[in-house]
Amino acid sequence: MSTAQPNSLLRQWQGPLTRDLVLRPGDFGLGQVPARLKPDSTTTSVCGFCSTGCGLNIHLKDGEAVNLTADTHYPVNLGMACPKGWEALTPLSALDRGTTPLLRSAKGQWQPVDWHAAMLEFCSRMKAIQARHGPHSIAFLGTGQICTEEMALLGSLFKFGMGGLHCDSNTRQCMATSHTAYKESFGFDAPPFAYSDFEQSDVLVFIGANPCIAHPILWQRVMRNRRNPQIIVLDPRKTETAMAATQHYSLRPKSDLALLYGLANLLIAKSWVNREFVARHTTGFEGFAEFVAPFTVENTSQATGLSQPEIQKLADTIRSGERVSFWWTMGVNQGHEATRTAQAIINLALMSGNIGRPGTGANSITGQCNAMGSRLFANITSLLGGHDFANPAHRAKVSAALALPEERIPTALGWAYDQIVDGIDQGKIKGLWVIATDVSHSWPDQDSLKGILGKLDFLVVQDMYPTTETARHAHLYLPAAGWGEKEGTFINSERRIGLVKKVRRAPGKALSDFSIFKLIADYWGCGEMFQRWSSPEAVFGLLKTLSRGQPCDISGIQDYAMLDRCNGIQWPWTEGDAQAQPDATPPPERRLFENGRFFRADGRALFVFESPREMPEKPDHEYPFVLLTGRGSSAQWHTGSRTSKSDVLRRLAPATCYVEMNPLDAARLKLQTNRKALVRSRRGALTASVFVTATVQPGQVFIPMHYAQTNRLTLPVFDPYSRQPAYKACAVRVERVI
Ligand code: SF4
Repeated sequence: MSTAQPNSLLRQWQGPLTRDLVLRPGDFGLGQVPARLKPDSTTTSVCGFCSTGCGLNIHLKDGEAVNLTADTHYPVNLGMACPKGWEALTPLSALDRGTTPLLRSAKGQWQPVDWHAAMLEFCSRMKAIQARHGPHSIAFLGTGQICTEEMALLGSLFKFGMGGLHCDSNTRQCMATSHTAYKESFGFDAPPFAYSDFEQSDVLVFIGANPCIAHPILWQRVMRNRRNPQIIVLDPRKTETAMAATQHYSLRPKSDLALLYGLANLLIAKSWVNREFVARHTTGFEGFAEFVAPFTVENTSQATGLSQPEIQKLADTIRSGERVSFWWTMGVNQGHEATRTAQAIINLALMSGNIGRPGTGANSITGQCNAMGSRLFANITSLLGGHDFANPAHRAKVSAALALPEERIPTALGWAYDQIVDGIDQGKIKGLWVIATDVSHSWPDQDSLKGILGKLDFLVVQDMYPTTETARHAHLYLPAAGWGEKEGTFINSERRIGLVKKVRRAPGKALSDFSIFKLIADYWGCGEMFQRWSSPEAVFGLLKTLSRGQPCDISGIQDYAMLDRCNGIQWPWTEGDAQAQPDATPPPERRLFENGRFFRADGRALFVFESPREMPEKPDHEYPFVLLTGRGSSAQWHTGSRTSKSDVLRRLAPATCYVEMNPLDAARLKLQTNRKALVRSRRGALTASVFVTATVQPGQVFIPMHYAQTNRLTLPVFDPYSRQPAYKACAVRVERVI
């Protein structure tokens, strides 16, 4: 049992917690909107759904947000927003918001409790598990949806304060591959582009990306391109983006690595190699050229299902561009050989010198609004600030910056998400803390995951809603404030740090995640360690210090006011950069590697490559279809925890799960549009309405990922380097429901 003292904030709350007591101005994320916002005015913030990071004008009445519009001045979205952005305030008013901590009674019923009781329960049970099963028998699974300062506090609290090691976040499901690929190839997790590159390319190649649906505002940036570009889409499906492209190559699922190697070989043969760039700025090209030699047009055609003239045309189009940019998202990141596929894209950009110039780049588009904050500052896959846990100099630097005993900093990474799930299954992890993610919905092989979670001694869910699938099974629920109810920063796909403002009061006793972490630190007994972490902006100051000297150095950003004034600032922005600018203000857009210098020790980018491997679960007689999953609507976000709360957004996407199927397959199975079908994999089954469409190839079916049941079917296989799940392809069969 903890002997920790509640912090001063909570001491005032002993006794009944009333709304008035909770809503105290200036108490972390609590209370009224900050005094700096005028009660009836318009302020700005950054959208909290996807990584595009659109700027929004938030209109306040009596100090509370009542409406919003897209910000015309913000350099990201230039006055545009997608349906989710326009509806961003609606989920805050949902009737099922959590308003008080809930504790499961001995009879299995949830009982409302105050924060004091909730904190005592959290700390005593987590500590008891550690005492019985060892310090590493507790874990957390976090999110790319909370603010950077909150992530940094969470990861630091868990690893430095609570003595835990195994933690991960849903960024693993989204961006782990890009993180790993960039780190190996460039020496740091560094997406090089600015959004204006969409407008400045001659040839844009989208690989496993459907920005029309997944990143609609980025697609609008493509539409602003006045260079009459060739827009190429590599995707098994004729997605909305493929329909709008100038060329679509419908390759076989998971044959992208073979295609990219085949293209490299063909382009080398066509002398599309920038020899000077390769010689001055890269390592390993000769070995790469030798490696790709067997990927002849004939072999590539066989592997991908594309015809030889198609492959030739694709190579010729790429070759014709003065400025060629390559863009990828989850079609690449969520694959069984995802890291090598991402690096095959990077290799194409490197060998042609298409990097560091306007309209070029090997550009990974991020998923969640703050996946990059998670990659750099969550203290999970990197030590705070993109440092390395295993590097003694890095540990010493972090220890000094945080006035933290160095022995508190782990010397190795903890387990990744899938290893934590395995650890629970094997009884090694007994306590799990889930923050702002719906594990039961989003993890592959959902049915078996639910059984595994049932083995936990203690499951805590901290979320806006106690109604998520995971929260329903929690022993303890902690009500959290959502986007718009707290302050902090997000980092978008082009490395822009944007300011998120508190423009609404959280309901009831809900607290910002930041406040909850601070409370836990105090109750745990390690509050002293986080004394300087007094507010999100104070933490931002610490992160600035920690970033100094790193590629993501943000020491030149003064404070939140500067972020606000500059419409967000891309990293890096160092003190030296600020001193070199007459007004210390960064230019609105910047890209990396303009000087050809990369972040590896020798300053050169590395060609990384490896032979393709077969799809882990190929279709066969019993399960003859390849199931593809992805985003089905720009109106729904991931598990729908928030977007499903909006009537408007619900009406913009079919209410029930559907499966897209080619007309030839539908005719053979005697299925028509709107008929029900049973889709079954080796792991589970679901019923879906059939949608007959030629956008999917014969032998393939597609189901959107936001439906709760989709992951009953998916395969728990992981890229070996990034450990990101391979959601995109597995074998299923489809049966007519009579
Ligand atoms: Fe928000 Fe993304 Fe839509 Fe922009 S594109 S409004 S960031 S969800």
